[in-house]
Amino acid sequence: MTLTTDDWLSLQSTGPSETAVQNLLSCSSPAAEGIAADVIVGGGLAGLLLALKLSSAPSKAPLVLLESRPSLGGRLFQAPPLSPGVSRAEALRAQFSHEALQHCSGPGFELFDPLALEVYERHLRMLLTDAEQEFLESFTKERTPAEQPFTRRTLLVRKEFTPLTEALSGSSEMLTRKEADILLQLAQPENISPENDGAFEASAFWQGLSKAQRESLTPLLETVLGWTLDRTPVSVVRSAVHAFVKSNESEVPKWFLRTSRLELGLEIVLLSRGVRALTQAELVRAFVPEKKAEATLIQVADMFARTPQQMTARKLALAIPLMRSLAVLPREQLHPQQSRLVSRHRPRSLVWVEYGNWKQAQLSTVAADTLVPGTRLVCPVERVQGALLSNGQLGFYTSIDFEDSLHAQSVREALNRCRKAALRFLSEPHMKAAQQARPAAPGITLMRERISLVPVGYNLPRNEAVPTTTEVKMAPGNWFSAGDHFTFAAESWRNVIDSTHDVAQLMLKN
Ligand SMILES: Cc1cc2nc3c(=O)[nH]c(=O)nc-3n(C[C@H](O)[C@H](O)[C@H](O)COP(=O)(O)OP(=O)(O)OC[C@H]3O[C@@H](n4cnc5c(N)ncnc54)[C@H](O)[C@@H]3O)c2cc1C
Repeated sequence: MTLTTDDWLSLQSTGPSETAVQNLLSCSSPAAEGIAADVIVGGGLAGLLLALKLSSAPSKAPLVLLESRPSLGGRLFQAPPLSPGVSRAEALRAQFSHEALQHCSGPGFELFDPLALEVYERHLRMLLTDAEQEFLESFTKERTPAEQPFTRRTLLVRKEFTPLTEALSGSSEMLTRKEADILLQLAQPENISPENDGAFEASAFWQGLSKAQRESLTPLLETVLGWTLDRTPVSVVRSAVHAFVKSNESEVPKWFLRTSRLELGLEIVLLSRGVRALTQAELVRAFVPEKKAEATLIQVADMFARTPQQMTARKLALAIPLMRSLAVLPREQLHPQQSRLVSRHRPRSLVWVEYGNWKQAQLSTVAADTLVPGTRLVCPVERVQGALLSNGQLGFYTSIDFEDSLHAQSVREALNRCRKAALRFLSEPHMKAAQQARPAAPGITLMRERISLVPVGYNLPRNEAVPTTTEVKMAPGNWFSAGDHFTFAAESWRNVIDSTHDVAQLMLKN
């Protein structure tokens, strides 16, 4: 059962009727046991691109997309979690309600390098028919410039909120003129080269600075990088500083600035192509039952079912971060190159904390015109970055080793740094109210504080340039792996684009 474009558009204005919910249910219930499907696990950018590529070619098997969260989009878009105990019908009703359509949450596209967004826009559009693009336009309408400024600004936050442009001119409390010059020299593109790369801290450039300059610049550089300088090669520091300086005052591509959720529009396109896009369905185990068996058995924890569901996959594509793959597969099933990289690199996680309604809650000391959606907040004292998201959320994040993210103490420490950064923006009563989920003041409701851990890739050891890989085959011949596996780098889109291209080619072969 598929819905027509008009059905979907009316859902948006009226919310779903009972018939629409029933139709949605029939589009999004698990595939019948025993029918072998091609299964994509993970509905982030990689899973979305792959599902669009595979569903635009003639199909040899039904296509199923499994996503453990309530919505597709992965790290690019994230819908809020559902309350426990809801049924699939209630979840669909909530997801397609008028209110939910307006709401996505971060870490989201506002934090991406605009170049990456342009690449993703181009690739997503290429995979949509004219009619689908038209549908997407009406379902998610672009914001007008009046509603939404398109220029991204970075503010450095210490006691004052200093626009990056002002800090780089050397006329603020954030940076002296000499420090600003050092940052600008580091950001020079001609200096970025992985050749003759060495540890940044041992480089002639860094050692040529005075001890005081090094001490003063280290917190800012480490905040921009997301990890410590001592483990980082010169080229990685230079690219991070280059991206940081360049993305300030850059235009956010309009395509991503919509009045409602783009990832939901894309999910509808997939459903209307007959793809079974199952959200809240997490792969927990995949195995080949006998040697040389043609199909793989996968177990799926469907939030709405009491026991794990079993499905048969003709082909299996894992579009999830490698460290997540390791939670569901033995390491031998990775490609040897992936396995080697996993052994050598330390995975990272982001601790992400968010609050809603920043417009209502902002401190009076902060000039309102410096705070617009898309503004990035860089807080070197706390080693934390943040952003004012276009949906009204205020988010702060810091990265920690994945292993540390398993220990409550380390997560608490990172969380406290994020909260301290948030306190530069929100007043103490607002923060307390958000933590206790009560109204901050008459007429002001600040969304409850939400904390999540997001995998972001692999840490880089000393003297090793950013690795990339398009190795997509896994140990069983009909298993593949796509996505941003290894890097926490500005250009991780390269891995996503290359790997989804390669996986689609291989999956379409027979
Ligand atoms: C703050 C921030 C800034 C970034 N900036 C940039 C940038 O400027 N440029 C750039 O190129 N990249 C950037 N990135 C990286 C970018 O987010 C990723 O490259 C991209 O989103 C990766 O997409 P993906 O599909 O590989 O993974 P994800 O987006 O992580 O998608 C994986 C999906 O799989 C789901 N999943 C996981 N395990 C399972 C399971 N067992 N079963 C079912 N589903 C599962 C997850 O819920 C998730 O939705 C940034 C990331 C962050 C966090």
